[in-house]
Amino acid sequence: MNKNLLGIDFEDWFHPELIKKYLRNEKLEPKVINGLDKILDLLRKNETSATFFVVGELLEFKPELIDSILENGHEIAFHTMYHTRLNDFNSKEQFLEELKQFSELTNNKSKGFRAPTFSLDSSTSWAIEALEENEYTYDSSVVPAKSSMYGHPNAEISPYKISSKSIENQDENGKLMEYPLLVTKFLGKKIPAGGGFYLRTLPLRIIKNAIRDYEKKGIPATFYIHSWELTPEFMPRIRLSKKDDFITYHNIEKTYEKMEEIIREFRFTSISDYSEVVF
Ligand SMILES: [Zn+2]
Repeated sequence: MNKNLLGIDFEDWFHPELIKKYLRNEKLEPKVINGLDKILDLLRKNETSATFFVVGELLEFKPELIDSILENGHEIAFHTMYHTRLNDFNSKEQFLEELKQFSELTNNKSKGFRAPTFSLDSSTSWAIEALEENEYTYDSSVVPAKSSMYGHPNAEISPYKISSKSIENQDENGKLMEYPLLVTKFLGKKIPAGGGFYLRTLPLRIIKNAIRDYEKKGIPATFYIHSWELTPEFMPRIRLSKKDDFITYHNIEKTYEKMEEIIREFRFTSISDYSEVVF
């Protein structure tokens, strides 16, 4: 049975894009980080390792987080310092500065990147160059389907070599591997199926069929889940518009159970462990 890839986007209650826009002068004190042990327990009891895409400022707040993640056999990777969309960076230099900060916080352990809200596209592809310059080995920011907030419906679905000139398809000269997120066909349309809102909202059998379909093709299914979705008890409920509330919180209390069913039935591992075996 081939292995699939699990990425945990480790961020706090004030990081998700749909919440950020409602914040005014609230004290931004991390709370979701207190759920880390529960997430580590979930992975341990299901013998799964994962890549933690961490928002860097959380490591400044609580440096011990990194030891807990690494000592449990997981990988640490970069999700920007403050959960900033790539198109909201002033310049490539600002991103390079954050990469440097994160490298210092993690003792140069991070080799992978995921863009907040999957915001990598042709206008922000300088990020790939910046990652190359810092000897990163992979990116996992491409969703090969269109959603309301992101997506590249024409991108390849199996891992490929990405470059700043070729975000959606293999570039033979690319230095970074891209691990695109799991997608599937639903009512004739390509939709994301690799976690988050889609795990919470779609019937589990659709997600499971999507993974089986990839397994048949020999493609790893790349999954993402947010730390706050697995530990909603540490997630304060902010008043949002009806639509934003639905996207952010719908079925949030069922995520843990659904994720556990998935990792119990299919084999998942971190991206670094996977790439060591395959490449
Ligand atoms: Zn994120």
